[in-house]
Amino acid sequence: MTDHAALAEEYGTPLFVYEADTIAAQYTGLRQRLHPAMDVFYSLKANPNLALCGQLRALGAGAEVSSLLELTTAREAGVPPGDIVFPGPGKSREEIAACLDAGIYAIICESFEELELVDELARERGVRARVALRVNPAFAVKGSGLTMGGKPRQFGIDESQLFALPGLRLAHLRVVGVHVYLGTRILDEAVIAENTRRILTLAERLAAHLDFPLEFVDVGGGLGVAYFDGERDLSVARLTDLVNPVVADFHDRHRSTRLIMELGRYLVAPAGTYLVRVRYVKTSMGERFAVTDGGTHQHMAAVGIGSFVKRDFPLRLLGRPADGPLARWTVTGPLCTPNDTLARAAELPDLRRGDLLGVLRSGAYGPSASPTLFLGHGHPAEVLVRDGVGHLIRHRDQVADLLRQQRSLVTTGGDPR
Ligand SMILES: *Cc1c(COP(=O)(O)O)cnc(C)c1O
Repeated sequence: MTDHAALAEEYGTPLFVYEADTIAAQYTGLRQRLHPAMDVFYSLKANPNLALCGQLRALGAGAEVSSLLELTTAREAGVPPGDIVFPGPGKSREEIAACLDAGIYAIICESFEELELVDELARERGVRARVALRVNPAFAVKGSGLTMGGKPRQFGIDESQLFALPGLRLAHLRVVGVHVYLGTRILDEAVIAENTRRILTLAERLAAHLDFPLEFVDVGGGLGVAYFDGERDLSVARLTDLVNPVVADFHDRHRSTRLIMELGRYLVAPAGTYLVRVRYVKTSMGERFAVTDGGTHQHMAAVGIGSFVKRDFPLRLLGRPADGPLARWTVTGPLCTPNDTLARAAELPDLRRGDLLGVLRSGAYGPSASPTLFLGHGHPAEVLVRDGVGHLIRHRDQVADLLRQQRSLVTTGGDPR
């Protein structure tokens, strides 16, 4: 058991604490049962920390990256170029050039204009670029927190546009794969199996139509984790019982095609706890408030901003026994906006100043998906617990770190910067 109170004492709060054992259990639990023809790639978007990426690489994961920093992080974490794919609807010249120079497994192209730009940059370098087509399929699948497919999107190229092409001839490209990502937070095993089946069928048809070798198919993933009351975690047994026959069927027909499932949230969300400390306790019109040092600016996902339903992430009192009667608390952060609310109806014992709270399942879409500069608090510290020992894997932003990026134009009064 991780001693959260000791870590909060040592590193201060707000603090993200990740458990290496949980990441390993998520990865290995799936890997052991998943059909061996299916590789697992880590989507750095969920948590781009170098140490987490390094651990997942050590376990065997490839990397799905979508920016220069994510690409560089994956390389520094030891992911070989042959295990890196790069999707993203708005890649810069610089990013495409970096992909070509690193020789990554495939650039996943999302528009015709992007294909032309990759072709141009490959020609300049005298190479043939390995690319995959990201398809915006005509079908959508229900049961996802965010549905892709079946509607206009900036992602991928419409299935109908690809099938309307007579062929794809760009001299400096080798089209070798198909990528489809159908949504996130999927908690229904049958939906994931059905997605996989439809994507594989689409890839097969598209490769035949455009006459390219199907070296790989990236089937996305979108595997969810339970956050809220009434949700349950995916069963790996049930998931693989449904997905593996679909994979086996495809694999029988395409023995040398590599299959990729790219996962973010599923691998890291359950491993993270966001530790915050209660600064003040007050009541307002009969409602109990605990004002903490953490919130929207570091964990927007838990605050629920941008999501349709605002429900509470699991929240625990840590560091002292949770005795006494429970009451209903509103747990807020320090920001000057009413949206900065970590829990609207948390059942907690009597809270007091200095109490430590943990927002569970917080390993994905934390600081990197939050406005960390809003009100100037910056990025929190991050700690990875491995073999019972905490390692600082990211320093907390200091005021000087953040001011260094700015220039004052004032030349009188105070030091000109
Ligand atoms: C966001 C994203 C992922 C990761 O999604 P999770 O739901 O966190 O697993 C994977 N692939 C693409 C293309 C994405 O945009």
